[in-house]
Amino acid sequence: MTEQLELYDVTIIGGGPAGMYTAFYSGMRDLKTKLIEAKPELGGRMLIYPEKMIWDVGGMTPILCEKLIGQLEQQARTFDPTIVLGQQITGLSRQEDGTFILTAATGEKHHTRTIILAIGYGILTMQKLEIEGADRYEVTNLHYTVQELEVFRGKRVLISGGGNSAVDWANELEPIAEKVTIVHRRDQFGGHEKNVSIMRESSVDIRTPYAVTQLHSNGENIEQVTITHMETEETERIEVDAVIVNHGLKCDYGPLVEWGLEMKDELAVVNGKLETNIPGIFAAGDFINYDSKVRLIAGAFTDGALALNSAKLYIDPEAPKVAYVSSHNIRFKEKNKQLGLDDDNYRNV
Ligand SMILES: Cc1cc2nc3c(=O)[nH]c(=O)nc-3n(C[C@H](O)[C@H](O)[C@H](O)COP(=O)(O)OP(=O)(O)OC[C@H]3O[C@@H](n4cnc5c(N)ncnc54)[C@H](O)[C@@H]3O)c2cc1C
Repeated sequence: MTEQLELYDVTIIGGGPAGMYTAFYSGMRDLKTKLIEAKPELGGRMLIYPEKMIWDVGGMTPILCEKLIGQLEQQARTFDPTIVLGQQITGLSRQEDGTFILTAATGEKHHTRTIILAIGYGILTMQKLEIEGADRYEVTNLHYTVQELEVFRGKRVLISGGGNSAVDWANELEPIAEKVTIVHRRDQFGGHEKNVSIMRESSVDIRTPYAVTQLHSNGENIEQVTITHMETEETERIEVDAVIVNHGLKCDYGPLVEWGLEMKDELAVVNGKLETNIPGIFAAGDFINYDSKVRLIAGAFTDGALALNSAKLYIDPEAPKVAYVSSHNIRFKEKNKQLGLDDDNYRNV
């Protein structure tokens, strides 16, 4: 069966920042590369906050997250890796020749010499509002993320939740919505202190300790929400145009954690070369834990390069330990020409 499958040098599982940057770096090292993502689009956790400004990626002046995802994808495609979307990898088997066959939940198979796990905290899904039938409003005015702030302009918005994102959204929507109400089952909010105090001093209507207990609709849209006091059980109805629920994220690695990977605190154990305990399988990004791990987009990039270099040496122990820097890497000569640059002096660019 392996003869029918194209053999790749590296298969990266997970299309977040770690996976995308690793795909680029793998091209720099001249490896035949495949990137597989379970969701229908690349971006990983960054897809949760597309309208946020990102300030802490080196060399990037403040950039809208959505734009950074686009740029990461463009960079990932530099050396034309095969990118597979909508396949959650679940199965692994090692062949006699040491290569691996990966199986997706959809049944598709992938043949590879090495694997880089860049799966973050697994497949993310939003914790849903636990009210029967609530899912029917997901196509109208019940939201689990804020993809576009403008959607809420001039509206009466009720936010359910008390974490960082809930508080953030309340602050961001307050100047553009007609009214923002935040409902949380505890008096204390979990968001950053500064953001909580900005919210408390703003016009946001804070209802604690309350929970959303009933939705009232015209059949299509939620028009009112009943909130219930956690102690007195007293109820109140609030008129709304939109409801945003932020009850946290559910993460699931699926059957992948049964592959025999050594895990600690639900993260992969790796050594300094980002090797897992399974020879030929490396890991990068939020999925791994080591003493100095930086759980940021920038940290994911460094992990990606380290893991990929280890994969390269696994395939070819004689290869240089790291890729040639891009400023001197022959692989970019042609690419620079495509940018209209025909010598090595780009000072005037
Ligand atoms: C609200 C919020 C705001 C943040 N703000 C910032 C910020 O301002 N700056 C910053 O640097 N960082 C920020 N972060 C952190 C940053 O998003 C993460 O550190 C980063 O996304 C980790 O990248 P990753 O590629 O390791 O994992 P992820 O981004 O989680 O990507 C993992 C991908 O793997 C896929 N996957 C999982 N399992 C499988 C499987 N079995 N098969 C196929 N695909 C699979 C998932 O679908 C996902 O797309 C923020 C995080 C959050 C939640």
